Amino acid sequence: MEKKEMLYEGKAKRVYATDEPEVLLVDYKDDATAFNGLKKGTITGKGAINNRMTNYMMQLLEKEGVPTHFVEELSERETLVKKVSIVPLEVIIRNISAGSFAKRYGVEEGIVFDEPTIEFSYKNDELGDPLINSYHALALGLATKAEIETIKKMAFKVNEVMKVYFKKLNVDLVDFKLEFGRLSDGTIVLADEISPDTCRFWDSDTHEKLDKDRFRRDLGNVEDAYIEMMNRVFGGNND
Ligand code: ADP
Ligand code: UDP
Repeated sequence: MEKKEMLYEGKAKRVYATDEPEVLLVDYKDDATAFNGLKKGTITGKGAINNRMTNYMMQLLEKEGVPTHFVEELSERETLVKKVSIVPLEVIIRNISAGSFAKRYGVEEGIVFDEPTIEFSYKNDELGDPLINSYHALALGLATKAEIETIKKMAFKVNEVMKVYFKKLNVDLVDFKLEFGRLSDGTIVLADEISPDTCRFWDSDTHEKLDKDRFRRDLGNVEDAYIEMMNRVFGGNND
């Protein structure tokens, strides 16, 4: 498959057309941003780690019955995906309080919920991705009722699969962000990425943060955290 023109450059990835109209090529960068682009930096090796981890998770989820955009890993940083029209919602699932949840509701980080929560943000950088509910999403025409139901079901299923998977690696899955898209026939599939950029991972024993919070909060050892997660997923075999 041939890499053609760049269609979009985002904060963490570049998206290219290919000679197949329904297939795109995603190229992962080492660039890191936080706070809606206000904080910028580089995390050496991040692109390769996020690419491999995303593809591993997408294939695991496919096996568990969650349809995804994954097609084929081409190289360290490049992957072919099914082209989708992205539903402009950031779908956030939480198992443990942290980040904006702790701040917004004035609670400490680390409260383990009896049941996971789901929330939506309107994916719109100009507005700073405001929190919305499913009625707002309907009113704004971002998705249909049926699509929102499908997205909710799939997001909770992703959580069940990932929670169990990471627990075996002695990692607590605190929270994460998903994006979904529509294939040309309207089918909803999981898209974008699943990585330490988009998930909070805490070591189950030490509660050490093994994710992008090390960058957001200037905690140091940012690269090491990504490498640690890579090693846990791939058993130290990074070939
Ligand atoms: P951002 O746009 O937030 O800066 P990225 O740097 O990750 O994010 O850019 C990747 C872009 O590609 C995102 O806008 C994401 O929604 C989009 N995307 C992810 N998967 C697909 C796909 N399968 N088809 C089309 N677009 C996709
Ligand atoms: N998240 C993300 N992209 C965003 C916002 C959040 O990937 O634009 C992820 C984030 O990494 C965390 C989860 O979603 O795992 C919940 O983030 P939160 O709402 O707590 O926001 P933050 O603290 O990142 O501002």
